[in-house]
Amino acid sequence: MNNNVMFKISYGLYILTAEDGDKANGCVINTLQQVTTVPNRISITVNKENFTHDMIAATGKFNISILSERACFDTFKHFGFQSGRDIDKFDGYPHETATNGIPYIMDGANSFLSGEVISLTDLGTHTMFIADVTDGEILSDDNSLTYDYYHKHIKETPQQNKKGWVCKICGYVYEGDELPPDFVCPLCKHGAADFERL
Ligand code: FE
Repeated sequence: MNNNVMFKISYGLYILTAEDGDKANGCVINTLQQVTTVPNRISITVNKENFTHDMIAATGKFNISILSERACFDTFKHFGFQSGRDIDKFDGYPHETATNGIPYIMDGANSFLSGEVISLTDLGTHTMFIADVTDGEILSDDNSLTYDYYHKHIKETPQQNKKGWVCKICGYVYEGDELPPDFVCPLCKHGAADFERL
């Protein structure tokens, strides 16, 4: 089998946000689908290593900001390259609060929607949440972002003088001489095999 087949699948990119108690957090996902129209339901699949995962599992509620082609690499760095276990990603970060009381981001997003979980499926590394869409608004007319567009126009190309390893999937750069064999990309969760030396 040619595993590159998997790179031909088209995905959007989204900032998934949740709140548990007084702590809010968000992460980047590419795994959102509408699964039924009546009722209006979506599925999202979230890596269990994400702090946001545990918040959704606990509260059953989340928001999705649908990213547009105007999204900046900084948004991916902010929500994808660091963990909400270490920092408060909403401390000073521009956001609005949806009717479900959970924040969502507007920068680089063309719309947002709110989800309420009706079922979850354990997929090992990930959990798939099926959710009713309970709210949503359009924020701009900009085109929705695809993973392909992100790779071609938004992902930062690594600087030549930087030493380290770059994730071939998402562009995350690990700075250091040797990449630990069990290293997992903090953005896309791919393993060391998908990194190459700069
Ligand atoms: Fe990656």
